[in-house]
Amino acid sequence: MKITFCGAAKQVTGSMHMVTLHNGYKILIDCGLNYELKRDLSGDEFTFPFNPGDIDLVILTHAHIDHSGNIPTLVARGFKGQIICTEPTLELSKHLLFDSANIQMMEYKQRYHRAPKHRKSNVPKPIYSEREVSVAMDKMVTLPFNRKFQITDGCEIELIEAGHLLGAASVVIQETVNQITTRIGFTGDLGREHAELIRNPVPMENLDYLVSEATYGGRMHTSSKLAEEELLKHIEETIVKLRGRLIIPAFSVGRTQSIVHVLCRLYHKGLLPDVKIYVDSPLAIKSTHTYSNHPELLNKDATAFLNEHGDLFDFPNLKWIDYLTDQDEKAQTGESCIIVSAAGMVEGGRIQEHVKNNIQNPFSTILIAGFCAEGTLGYRLLSGQKNIAIKGRNYQVYSNITKTDVFSSHPDKMEIFNYIKTCYTPRLKQIFLVHGDEPNLVQMKDTLEKAGITGVEIPEQLDSYNLIS
Ligand SMILES: [Zn+2]
Repeated sequence: MKITFCGAAKQVTGSMHMVTLHNGYKILIDCGLNYELKRDLSGDEFTFPFNPGDIDLVILTHAHIDHSGNIPTLVARGFKGQIICTEPTLELSKHLLFDSANIQMMEYKQRYHRAPKHRKSNVPKPIYSEREVSVAMDKMVTLPFNRKFQITDGCEIELIEAGHLLGAASVVIQETVNQITTRIGFTGDLGREHAELIRNPVPMENLDYLVSEATYGGRMHTSSKLAEEELLKHIEETIVKLRGRLIIPAFSVGRTQSIVHVLCRLYHKGLLPDVKIYVDSPLAIKSTHTYSNHPELLNKDATAFLNEHGDLFDFPNLKWIDYLTDQDEKAQTGESCIIVSAAGMVEGGRIQEHVKNNIQNPFSTILIAGFCAEGTLGYRLLSGQKNIAIKGRNYQVYSNITKTDVFSSHPDKMEIFNYIKTCYTPRLKQIFLVHGDEPNLVQMKDTLEKAGITGVEIPEQLDSYNLIS
């Protein structure tokens, strides 16, 4: 068995690892969009570091675009095999990939329209279209958690619950050659313990090799409060005291469901003030249906809540907005309210309108509820800039800008350490740290080594390792 790190090596996005079995059968674990590259490349220029036609199988750990976003291109460039994932991952990927294709087309049209005549042909084209997403979706087949599945002679795979997002899986690949078995486990993205809706990650057992994410390998989450307490604090400060507007940028898949469920809990406890709440994201509406369709994957608290109240995401005063009406728009700009909208990093999407409408209002708060990459509008807001350009216009910042990591869907340093420690048996030969920037990966390696855990590697892009038992 051999592993090649084709993406998310010393960086967070673009997850893509290739496992080659002894008979040459090639498995790709994830095929995600590399955000660092996407900015500069058009669909014509994008290339894979292998021939897509040589890949026999893709295993998709979860639906996030940095893990799934290059699948349509892989298929368009000649991949003929199947894509294995859990059922919720299939549903959420469908929503996310179609949304991604739409956004790319919209951005292309806007840039094309703005570009001077002689530069129009240089405008980067979308990496893929809706048609390519449809073809890719037809290749997806589902596998439940904890069911071993033989993919070729002497090799079986198993999906294990990873937390993080509904349907997110860790992947174990086990190959037996001449009665010698090698087991490699990929964490995919891990979740946190005691998440609002989904269960804790389940560590993989009896591994020879482990490929672990270490997004926050050098960082502890700062918020020690429960999500309910934390959100209520912001509601009291902005809604109760100031009668202002609380604007929460949030990813439509995962983050929005956690926030709405926490608001729903506050409502049923009688703690939520009488205020209108808008969830302004068509993608969030579709994704919430997927969450509602899979009660079997909820944790104990969410199951108990569902049994008692009949719905995880519905309560009076909450309005899901698919198509924005004039009336909604008027209400959102005229009265005290809470608005949850995408995108989480405030780059594009309807949230930009809400930020724009409220940024000069000293009674408003913009509460950033997730990671914001450098250069994004969310990042610029958090860095304290007093003058912000949105869609080509400058705005003075008078609103309150704040953040919380209470809804983070990735484990922090201690949580990753504890996960890896649980997998660490005398059988484990090597641990590969990926899906993190270099400082985070190095700090996790140091933490593990100080605890006596050896064989930790930080692979470079396109590094290959022979995995021997
Ligand atoms: Zn993820």
